[in-house]
Amino acid sequence: MSKRAPVNKNDYIEDAYFEDLTHDGNGVTKIDGYPLFVPNALPGERGKVKVVKASKNYGFGKLIEIHEESQYRQEPPCPIYHQCGGCQVQHISYEGQLKAKEKHVRDVMARIGKLPEVPVHPALGMEEPWRYRNKAAVPVGEREGGLVAGFYQQRSHEIIDMDRCIIQHEKNDEIIQKVKEICQKYGIRPYNEEKHRGTLRHIMTRYGYQTGEVMVVLVTRTADLPNQNQIVEEIVSSIEGVKSVIQNVNTKRTNVIMGDQTKVLWGEEVIYDFIGDVKFAISARSFYQVNPDQTKVLYEKALEYADLSGDENVIDAYCGIGTISLFLAQKAKKVYGVEIVPQAIEDAKKNAELNGFTNTEFEAGPAEAVIPRWYEEGIKADVLVVDPPRKGCDEALLNTILEMKPRKVVYVSCNPATLARDLRVLEDGGYKTLEVQPVDMFPQTMHVECVAQLVLR
Ligand code: SAH
Repeated sequence: MSKRAPVNKNDYIEDAYFEDLTHDGNGVTKIDGYPLFVPNALPGERGKVKVVKASKNYGFGKLIEIHEESQYRQEPPCPIYHQCGGCQVQHISYEGQLKAKEKHVRDVMARIGKLPEVPVHPALGMEEPWRYRNKAAVPVGEREGGLVAGFYQQRSHEIIDMDRCIIQHEKNDEIIQKVKEICQKYGIRPYNEEKHRGTLRHIMTRYGYQTGEVMVVLVTRTADLPNQNQIVEEIVSSIEGVKSVIQNVNTKRTNVIMGDQTKVLWGEEVIYDFIGDVKFAISARSFYQVNPDQTKVLYEKALEYADLSGDENVIDAYCGIGTISLFLAQKAKKVYGVEIVPQAIEDAKKNAELNGFTNTEFEAGPAEAVIPRWYEEGIKADVLVVDPPRKGCDEALLNTILEMKPRKVVYVSCNPATLARDLRVLEDGGYKTLEVQPVDMFPQTMHVECVAQLVLR
């Protein structure tokens, strides 16, 4: 049975045809059915490829020259696009990106969900697919004795300095530059990953698009921050809108950005922002969607799919700080939210209070344990919303849904593959998927968010 790869490393393919794009943005060409993944190549293009790796079942190639160009190819606007790796599809026009995302969703619905007929709408994109991020977290390092902050060179841990990231809000660029200068001026030692020495590991910022409020987080290796008072004073006086300066201490040798200890150096513990009419308090550690404009589009679609009249009990599983829950609470009789991180549930309760909602209840715990218990206690949802992490819904939760039989299920997903898998389970258990709406929360990357509407047959 076992066949050898039809190509070897360092072979050239003189005129390869690219037929597809992978979910991580590589072009795909096939040699007698054997897939070769080629970064920077686009579907519909032809070109010369050098094989750089040939495993048994698939290989990787390098695009040497393009013979026939896709109508969607464009010059990447960012000068450091190829070095950075934060974006994967700046070489595709925005129209092409949206088409590719829609196709990806359609493909997995057919292949994994066995739902070739399900309506997948064109992806809802942004008018201006740049400068959309409200949060930046940049690693700090040392170069020629100076403090630099930017990004890790692809496949390495070397930090390249960066003064501009065009998917970030301008304000975040400004903040990072200022904080960098201030820390340099007061002699803060950048963190050295290899030796696990130095002080400043990451600079993190959050910007409230609707409120203009700014949070600055200094992630340090040690609790001690030399010249702390001067640094804080200068951050506050030189950056407009600062409401919160936070220090987070991360003493560990780890890739994880934040440590366990968080203290307020100046101002508030949180900043505020709005999505639609709902106000949210956002702390340094809480999960909050990074693209506020598209978050509104996503949540409005979820609300539309929930189709509430005001009489419904709604369960919001994987609720985070209660963002979707509170959106739903505007139209539902009662919303029950469940989330595994206790701090997020504290935030959700505060956010409900902040907005004057009295029809919400939140509980911390695994959705797959809490919702079955609620069901036993007689709490039954008419509409159930899920928004799980990339791995999708727990099987126990899907089983509970099939027992509880809510009239409608709204599935918000950041991973089309696990969405398709879970839709198949729900379909087999008696639900029908009416439609799937991809929403582009992350332009210039291959990530795609979806909302699906299901009804009980
Ligand atoms: N709906 C929120 C958060 C979605 S992110 C929003 O739109 O902002 C997914 C959330 O699921 C995270 O907050 C994560 O902490 C939570 N989570 C992960 N596993 C979980 C589980 N087993 N039960 C409940 N929540 C879980």
